[in-house]
Amino acid sequence: KYYNMVEDMKGKIRVFCRIRPMSRAEAAQGGAIAVGCLDDYSVTVETPRGPREFQFDRVFSGKSSQEDVFQDTNSLFSRLIQSAIDGFNVCIFAYGQTGSGKTFTMVGDRDQKSPGIMPRAFNAIFDILQENATKFDFKVSVNMLELYNDRLQDLFLSGAEAQSRRVEIKRNRKGLVFAQGAETKEASSAGELFAMFQQACANRHIAATKMNVESSRSHLIIGIMVESRNLTNGSVSFGKLSLVDLAGSERAAKTGAKDDQLKEANSINKSLSALGDVISALSSELPHIPYRNSKLTQIMQDSLGGNAKTLMVVNVSPSDCNLDETLTSLIYATRVK
Ligand code: ADP
Ligand code: MG
Repeated sequence: KYYNMVEDMKGKIRVFCRIRPMSRAEAAQGGAIAVGCLDDYSVTVETPRGPREFQFDRVFSGKSSQEDVFQDTNSLFSRLIQSAIDGFNVCIFAYGQTGSGKTFTMVGDRDQKSPGIMPRAFNAIFDILQENATKFDFKVSVNMLELYNDRLQDLFLSGAEAQSRRVEIKRNRKGLVFAQGAETKEASSAGELFAMFQQACANRHIAATKMNVESSRSHLIIGIMVESRNLTNGSVSFGKLSLVDLAGSERAAKTGAKDDQLKEANSINKSLSALGDVISALSSELPHIPYRNSKLTQIMQDSLGGNAKTLMVVNVSPSDCNLDETLTSLIYATRVK
């Protein structure tokens, strides 16, 4: 089933929904479970007006561990990574309100006892490269960026250097997006790639703390470029795997938001709605796709539509105290269809 899903994924967007377990805080608030899965493909939400159902390519409940998610869809994830090595642009991104489980899905828990997509992808890439080392020469190069208030930050840099570096989105003649001005590092093993990622997260955390902002208010964008040269005939192909942990989708802070918070919230809303517009334009096969409306969609342009294969994971809380945001996220995610 998943094999076919990847085979006909070119230019399409698949959507998974993951419901996280009830948190201790939600349980303490006396919240009831309002979101559940009916089967592997449908989510049901108890609203004050009665139940609502949403369909996805796959649904995971709070009972699903990381192993369940990745083993169950093993063929999908490993085939997506294989696709990037074969020369496709592949993008996996997580959408949802802050606290819904995006980082858990993309990165994993803090001590990496339950790793998420990123560390698993790092390993999978180098496993595949190793298996093909006698037939191909590979070069893996990496960018790690953050998009905050419409400004791209290079996470390989820190302090004043990061502040002063201008990173701009450009496209080359083949339509491939690249971040001009950003550091690109070569990685030769999964361990090295993971160490770069940890350094990038540390730089991100330091920068956020200094500005007194939450890192969940920015988009994290990891780009892994794989160049492979066929040792028999010398042909070269380029593929790219983009892994994106989006900023929290919750609506602007209500009353009492300060100027900075409003600016931040507006910038996030603008970028996420631009992403939604691109996705729905693609799925309704409109002639014009509005990629240029935000930096987020510009940087994801070569990973959405065209020959790209895209997987969106919409993360939601199960609790009735998050009902409004959960409905908003599920409705956003069904625009893809
Ligand atoms: P977000 O990145 O969307 O803000 P997090 O991934 O940080 O949310 O998740 C919030 C909290 O819930 C974290 O403590 C995280 O470890 C936990 N959590 C999220 N999803 C799961 C899950 N599927 N299973 C167990 N714990 C989870
Ligand atoms: Mg997060």
